[in-house]
Amino acid sequence: MKGISIDDNNKRYLSYQIKWFGIYIGVGLFLSILLPFPLSLFAYLAVFLIINFVRTRLRLKKMGISMRSLFKQSSSILDSSRHTTVRYYCMSCGKEHREIACPNCGSKMKRIG
Ligand SMILES: [Zn+2]
Repeated sequence: MKGISIDDNNKRYLSYQIKWFGIYIGVGLFLSILLPFPLSLFAYLAVFLIINFVRTRLRLKKMGISMRSLFKQSSSILDSSRHTTVRYYCMSCGKEHREIACPNCGSKMKRIG
């Protein structure tokens, strides 16, 4: 029984890859018949990029991730990292500042908070 599920997965993955390979070949042949050579190459590249983009979107969607939520997540990570940066407070008056001396009272004593 050992390794059967892995073989199954490999087979599924391989047939999946072959399917897409076939689609790319088919599109390439179709475009080369339809268009003269340099044009067909550019068209093929465009189609290739579009298909890859759609495939990535579909895969993310399957995983429950939309491009928008991905963007939102990364921007919220940026936001939280901005919030967790070290803050300095003046020891004598408590004002938050990033100067060497406190702009409020001129004290150079600071605490990190
Ligand atoms: Zn101060």
